[in-house]
Amino acid sequence: MMTKLSDLRPPVKGTRQGDEPAREQDHFYNCRRCGQQVDRRDLRQVIWHEQPEHEPLELDA
Ligand SMILES: [Zn+2]
Repeated sequence: MMTKLSDLRPPVKGTRQGDEPAREQDHFYNCRRCGQQVDRRDLRQVIWHEQPEHEPLELDA
C-alpha cells in the first residue's frame, strides 16, 4: 500500500535561498533509496524521501 502525497501534512511554505534553477528539471532529483523523482520544491516529498526506510510516494496532487 502506497502512501499518498495527500496523506502527508500540507505543503510547507519555505523561503528559497539563492537563485532559482534555470531549468525545470533542475528542481528534481532521483531518490537514492527508492529511485523516485523528487521535487525539491515540495518539502513533503523531500522529507518523505529523507526517511531511512520508505517506498515511492503515490503522487496524486
Ligand atoms: Zn525515496
